[in-house]
Amino acid sequence: QNGDERAASIPRYVRVNTLIGTTEDTIETFVSRGYTLSDPFSSSKKGFSKDPHVPDLLLFHPSTTFQDDDLYTSGKIILQDKASCFPALVLSPPASSDSVVIDATAAPGNKTSHLGALMKNKGKLFAFERDKKRFSTLKMMLSKAGCTNSFPINADFLTIDPHDTRYSSVTHILLDPSCSGSGIVNRLDYLLEAENEGGTDKEERLDKLASFQLKMIQHAMRPFSSKHMGFALRPVPNVRKIVYSTCSIHATENERVVRNALNSEEARVGAFRLAPRSEVLPTWQRRGYPDELDSPGTPSCFSHSGMKLDARFTFTGDASSLVRCLPGEDATNGFFVSCFVRDNRQQSTSK
Ligand code: SAM
Repeated sequence: QNGDERAASIPRYVRVNTLIGTTEDTIETFVSRGYTLSDPFSSSKKGFSKDPHVPDLLLFHPSTTFQDDDLYTSGKIILQDKASCFPALVLSPPASSDSVVIDATAAPGNKTSHLGALMKNKGKLFAFERDKKRFSTLKMMLSKAGCTNSFPINADFLTIDPHDTRYSSVTHILLDPSCSGSGIVNRLDYLLEAENEGGTDKEERLDKLASFQLKMIQHAMRPFSSKHMGFALRPVPNVRKIVYSTCSIHATENERVVRNALNSEEARVGAFRLAPRSEVLPTWQRRGYPDELDSPGTPSCFSHSGMKLDARFTFTGDASSLVRCLPGEDATNGFFVSCFVRDNRQQSTSK
């Protein structure tokens, strides 16, 4: 295969679950089974390699299957596309008892268990899932992965009261909400057909998804804090970082949602801005689309109270802070990652 063909085909990605075993031991197990640390695309189909961007991620030949493998059935390895490992990696909650993390849209739980692994099962990891059936899967997956710091909760994240004392010390939030899924490679043919069919329907659907996605970010930006803050005029949020991701290739669900979130009352009050590129997978080359991030606001650019935003609050950010993955180009599914951080300086002067 030449370079272009490789980029177009997606290797079988295997994330080592470091809550149960080590990458070194897992590599040794594969070597003892006849695999060699070499080119995963070699004709022998027995080569595998370490990913250059995501620690503990291994690449195998695309035809390799692991569904019946004891490493998989025991939870020691997790089958997770490379791009879908980016959100937890960007959020990177410290492995400390002070870390209190919400995964707002958790099932089936691959990103939740990745967060648990990065946290080394320290601190607290609340995993929300509103769908009952998917919630059962989530609980099973977290238990299989040995994610003992997780608290799965069958609830709609949008109904969570930010002043609830259980969540007042939340420091990090992961938002990976429902999206069009247009980046998922094996859905592309079907989607291309759908796209050729009815343009208006597709746009309406994307707009609906985008307005739901924006609501989720705005809710995450509300001050998760205790109501009674002594002399403080306004509760000070503890949330330091929010990662928003989709497996969509459409700017409507990606840069435009981020732009509207940055221009929302919640972002202004909470002093949220985009994290600099240096904090968001700096070595990954494909970045956000600047024209889409800078495009004029849409009617969805309203605060949750329905107030039209004042032009003086209009703020976008640098699209190089955003990460994109393109199917057929990056050896991954299509994906988008953004990261909001709180500007403590601005927060204290805006009170
Ligand atoms: N992060 C998951 C993973 O990597 O395994 C995938 C999440 S999937 C894209 C989105 C999930 O969010 C779905 O299971 C959906 O039922 C759930 N969801 C959507 N809206 C929600 C809400 N308001 N509160 C909680 N869960 C929600």
